[in-house]
Amino acid sequence: MILNYDVLVIGGGHAGCEAACAAANMGAKTCLVTMDMNKIAQMSCNPAIGGIAKGQIVREIDAMGGQMALVSDATAIQFRMLNRSKGPAMWSPRAQCDRGKFIWEWRKRIDETDNLDIWQDQAEELLVEPCGPACCRGTAEKTVVGVRTIWGCELRAKAVIITAGTFLNGLLHIGRKMVPGGRIAEPAVLHFTECITRHGITTARMKTGTPVRIDKRSVHFEDTEIQPGENDYHRFSYMGKPRPLPQLPCWTFNTNRECHEVLMSGIADSPLYNGQIQSIGPRYCPSVETKLMTFPERDSHPLFLEPEGVDTNEMYLNGFSSSMPMDVQIEALKKIPALRDLKVYRPGYAIEYDFFDPTQLKHSLESKIISGLFFAGQVNGTTGYEEAGGQGTVAGINAALYAGSAGCHGTATDNKAFILHRDEAYIGVLIDDLVTKGVDEPYRMFTSRAEYRILLRQDDADARLTEKCYELGLARRDRYDLWMEKKEAIDRIIRFCENTPVKMNDINGALEALGTTPLRAGCKAIDLIGRPQINLQNLSELVPGLKAVMEDCRNAKGEESETLLSRKDEIIEAAEVKMKYKGYIEREQMVAEKMHRLENIKIKGRFDYDSLQSLSIECRQKLNRINPETLAQASRIPGVSPSDINVLLVLLGR
Ligand SMILES: Cc1cc2nc3c(=O)[nH]c(=O)nc-3n(C[C@H](O)[C@H](O)[C@H](O)COP(=O)(O)OP(=O)(O)OC[C@H]3O[C@@H](n4cnc5c(N)ncnc54)[C@H](O)[C@@H]3O)c2cc1C
Repeated sequence: MILNYDVLVIGGGHAGCEAACAAANMGAKTCLVTMDMNKIAQMSCNPAIGGIAKGQIVREIDAMGGQMALVSDATAIQFRMLNRSKGPAMWSPRAQCDRGKFIWEWRKRIDETDNLDIWQDQAEELLVEPCGPACCRGTAEKTVVGVRTIWGCELRAKAVIITAGTFLNGLLHIGRKMVPGGRIAEPAVLHFTECITRHGITTARMKTGTPVRIDKRSVHFEDTEIQPGENDYHRFSYMGKPRPLPQLPCWTFNTNRECHEVLMSGIADSPLYNGQIQSIGPRYCPSVETKLMTFPERDSHPLFLEPEGVDTNEMYLNGFSSSMPMDVQIEALKKIPALRDLKVYRPGYAIEYDFFDPTQLKHSLESKIISGLFFAGQVNGTTGYEEAGGQGTVAGINAALYAGSAGCHGTATDNKAFILHRDEAYIGVLIDDLVTKGVDEPYRMFTSRAEYRILLRQDDADARLTEKCYELGLARRDRYDLWMEKKEAIDRIIRFCENTPVKMNDINGALEALGTTPLRAGCKAIDLIGRPQINLQNLSELVPGLKAVMEDCRNAKGEESETLLSRKDEIIEAAEVKMKYKGYIEREQMVAEKMHRLENIKIKGRFDYDSLQSLSIECRQKLNRINPETLAQASRIPGVSPSDINVLLVLLGR
């Protein structure tokens, strides 16, 4: 059987689902090929979305018109804004979700998406042809034309996106026992890597792991500390839908010396320490045995017991990822008072899997070697649902743009590609890091990876991305209208504060009561917002008229708007952050602007790097391998120094 599409997405994980919805919503006839359509967007590890820097990515996916935030809000059972004690650049939303409902909410959204089919099967062979003479892209010698599945079905398409996650040659480890698998109880995909590497795309191995799942009925909660969630106005999605599920607490307790002794007694059978696992795992998310080996002086490590859903007894033990033999894991946990009668559903395990070197990709996530072939998610060496979802969205958009162009994938040029810059989105930082620097360990996003953190806040992803993605055709009209209403409401508050004078005699008493220095002369209301003790809420008690502007929920047509009313707190927060951090924001914008000048200097195809003796050998090798598009990208390649950039600038000047 042969089926024809514009875009094929291989793998229905977090990258694949976002990619498929993005491509279909952009108008491309799309098929999502996945092994088990009842495990769409399965959360392989922790059933939680967001967290530091990752929460910002989820907000960005939403602002672009993606699905992850909507699915998370619909299935959240505990929501928190992390890093509240720090500046707003660091605030990061995180939600514990109901694992089962998360899958079905995603499935519903995919089922309801026009232009999108699901084909439940395993892609086994990549169909690749030489680029024909009519091909005017000229960037690759080969082009992808589809896949063949293990059941012999031929699915043909103009663009193919690979999002196979941890499934390629996946190998599971529990103690000395090894079983091929893509995740526990799911088969590995054994021959797909080889049909990709055959074309010159290189692969390597990585490793990750997950903890034991616990039966709630066996836990002594009296020996734990409860950790409630928050229930304020914050959501993941800017569409602001309420959270329908009951909100549940988590619990926390610590490991102890006895628990550590049992673990150490089994260390000879640990695949991480007996040479069985050679690949590199995520450094920031170590297994419990790695924590013991790295910090032998510590008597305890914190653990978090998190519910897996509203109607299950299954609980996730955050902090106890392990691939020790299963009896060692269980024995060790029973030494903790809260778990003395422990029953588990399954032990923790580790997995090794294939990924592909992401420096072989363009910023559009298209392969430099096979045109029309895109890669997104864990196969690019990243870890995390959010990182996968962000890449999936960009790959889906670009595959749709590619498929929409004419010819032997024809008149599309790289100029048409959708690219997010480092000052526009964490997703831009993520992709630029991947394609420019590559990965030597599973890549996860941190706020420290972004040089323009104050521009990439969780409160303003809609300001950064919604209009751009509406013009592109991904964000829908209702999202665009909501953003425009919000934008106008924010501007009204800021304009009022900029234009409203405050007299010192009227306000000094109140300022002193709030613990901030009195004024020596009159000022504008906006000048007071910069003070740490002042926010819009307390200022509105002091400045006549401000409260009315904050309460004003009229839209552009002058009508009372219910959506503005329900999002009032979010709007006030956004206006306040913009005013409080105005100076910092403007400074970062200026720096970003300067970098854009280098970003506009195209260097691809303009140099024979091997002949440039004034560049260091390392620099020549790296420039040859990455073949950067612009001078700015070249400047971010590790091994390319500022003096190398100066040499290129001088040569360009000539
Ligand atoms: C054991 C384990 C522990 C993890 N621990 C963490 C952690 O602590 N922190 C963290 O951030 N992340 C962790 N992760 C990673 C996280 O699960 C992934 O980053 C995320 O799921 C990646 O999304 P993805 O869409 O790239 O791939 P996945 O979610 O893995 O989805 C891949 C999909 O592709 C399908 N598929 C694969 N090959 C084919 C094929 N040939 N044909 C058809 N369908 C195919 C699969 O069925 C699956 O649906 C862990 C993963 C595992 C397995």
